[in-house]
Amino acid sequence: MTTTADPLSALNPDQRRAVEYGVGAAAGADGACGPLLVIAGAGSGKTNTLAHRVAHLILNGTDPRRILLLTFSRRAAAEMARRVDRIVRRVLGNRADAVAQALTWTGTFHAIGARILREHAAEIGLDPAFTIHDRSDSADLMNLVRHELGLSRTESRFPAKATCLSIYSRAVNARAPLDEILLRHFPWCAGWDAELRRLFAAYVEAKQAQNVLDYDDLLLYWAQMLAEPAHAAALGARFDHVLVDEYQDTNTLQADVLMALKPDGRGVTVVGDDAQSIYSFRAATVRNILDFPGRFDPPARIVTLERNYRSTVPILEAANAVIALADERFTKNLWSDRHSAEKPQIVTVRDETDQAAYVAGRVLDYREAGIALKSQAVLFRASHHSGPLEIELARRNIPFVKFGGLKFLEAAHVKDVLAVLRFAENPRDRVAGFRVAQLLPGIGPSTAGRLVDRIVETGGRADALDRFEPPPRAAADWQAFVALFADLVASRSGWPAELEAVRLWYEPHLQRLHDDCAVRRADLIQLEQIAAGYPDRQRFLTDLTLDPPEATSAEAGPPHLDEDYLILSTIHSAKGQEWSSVFVLNAVDGCIPSDMATGSTAEIEEERRLLYVAMTRARDALHIVTPQRFFTHGQQARGDRHVYACRTRFIPDALLDRFTLLSWPPAAADLPAPEAAPLPRIDLKQRMRGMWGS
Ligand code: ATP
Ligand code: MG
Repeated sequence: MTTTADPLSALNPDQRRAVEYGVGAAAGADGACGPLLVIAGAGSGKTNTLAHRVAHLILNGTDPRRILLLTFSRRAAAEMARRVDRIVRRVLGNRADAVAQALTWTGTFHAIGARILREHAAEIGLDPAFTIHDRSDSADLMNLVRHELGLSRTESRFPAKATCLSIYSRAVNARAPLDEILLRHFPWCAGWDAELRRLFAAYVEAKQAQNVLDYDDLLLYWAQMLAEPAHAAALGARFDHVLVDEYQDTNTLQADVLMALKPDGRGVTVVGDDAQSIYSFRAATVRNILDFPGRFDPPARIVTLERNYRSTVPILEAANAVIALADERFTKNLWSDRHSAEKPQIVTVRDETDQAAYVAGRVLDYREAGIALKSQAVLFRASHHSGPLEIELARRNIPFVKFGGLKFLEAAHVKDVLAVLRFAENPRDRVAGFRVAQLLPGIGPSTAGRLVDRIVETGGRADALDRFEPPPRAAADWQAFVALFADLVASRSGWPAELEAVRLWYEPHLQRLHDDCAVRRADLIQLEQIAAGYPDRQRFLTDLTLDPPEATSAEAGPPHLDEDYLILSTIHSAKGQEWSSVFVLNAVDGCIPSDMATGSTAEIEEERRLLYVAMTRARDALHIVTPQRFFTHGQQARGDRHVYACRTRFIPDALLDRFTLLSWPPAAADLPAPEAAPLPRIDLKQRMRGMWGS
């Protein structure tokens, strides 16, 4: 069905201006338009406007294959593609199918970077079969290299592997000199400047020798490639339009990539909100969005949006009041006409157990009232804060999906199986090889080390395994592994069947290594289901490493997509999204702001923005829960410290009139007195005597 209805009719005039800017009659002589910045507050329709702009471009003749659309997560990319499709379909009917298939350059900076590097590998001296290390693989490799250099922590108190990786990653993403990064963010490591340089140089060499890239490399190699004018011009010419959502959370490398692709800003649209910049710990800099207009001559066109369509007036006013106390002045004036009598609530509970009971109870009340679990979310500062709630949800059989927490892929058994695949994909990947070899009984770290060295020496030849002599105790298991490995390298079973072969091979190791085999086996079967959605092993591994699937409630099993489930999410992972009712856990000092982030005013201000992001996710109901005490690491069992807490400093007394205050469970004195109906009088003595017939 084709309709001629105006696809932009739902937009307000400002949104429409942004969508139509430079398109059609208003375009320049070459059909492109100058740079555009949409800077606006939460829920003002930035993402929606971006989706409409993409659709509008396509409907006005831009080839969808020539549109590069960069989002913050794979989930956001999929959501954006869905929105574009809906708009285009209204006009084109079934012809929209072709558009959906052609809009393929949609994804995160990292995923698009990986794709471009593979495509251009030959021209830039990379082997296209590179595998990608996630953060934990990178930390393992950093550790390996550190030991090889004799920079062991125990003897010298050299920084831990995770710290080394953070320093490295920050310097790379911010494109800043090491000493500056150390001074500013890791002052306690400043004395190790020379050793860190040596370590990072060796780390880079190790990655190259093994043909692996880490997350940062995906941006760094891309930016380096674009530093070559011929490459930048060729790649830039492939796209008529480059659009970026959540631009406030990009880092210097990402901005450099964008500027290299489109130095004159033609066809570039970025949208974002400086009040929602929450990723500076990953070297994101709000300067990117603030400086964007001035990077061009003439400067970029700026559109601001002031109407919030998401939240009710009381929720928006409370959120506005919280951000108005920020040191920085955000000049956005958000208003909403979604009137409601219901103020957001601040709920005081005794501890995290009560917090969990309160949230679970309210979630069920809302569901009873017709609000699906999927329209509700529980948000928290750190992944481990949801521990007690997860237990309570499992107890009450409430299914949930957790975003931004421990990923499914971080579980040992899933990592084991993926390491086998990765090792087969790239036998030079030492971290993968090291992990796989040690699965076999009788092979310890030193034998595993010799094995991976041998493979690397042969230039990554898989048949090096054949000639390796394992310790006698491991011989039988070794043969089985070599046979599997040869099949994988030759792709004999085909994809995704080979994953089942790996699981069957892994089964005895699973039984030997883990007590809870059934749950873990179910995870591996789920992994096979995910794999079935990919055309080949390489794309499966790349995608999974870059944006792993979310963990689900183990008790309830993974919810199917058409099932209803509650969303649990870190605040960081919740950005850009919205739910009818939102619960914010642990809104107390020590959690928000986190104790780990009170070292400087800048850090504290970022925590305030984090609370603002959390509050502005709510459409109709917002519950901010403040336990009077909590466990610093979310777990009593580990002997964790119990601390007494105060309501977050970001909601001072002066703001309390914007909230409804509640204590839960209600104190006995607040409960209605039970009705004392008079009871009939009975004579029990008489009855007792009667029992014996006297
Ligand atoms: P955030 O800052 O959180 O990323 P945003 O500015 O990207 O928010 P969107 O997610 O695009 O905002 O939109 C917020 C909500 O407002 C969505 O539910 C969207 O459908 C709705 N919305 C946006 N524009 C309009 C409009 N013109 N008419 C009606 N609803 C709208
Ligand atoms: Mg958005």
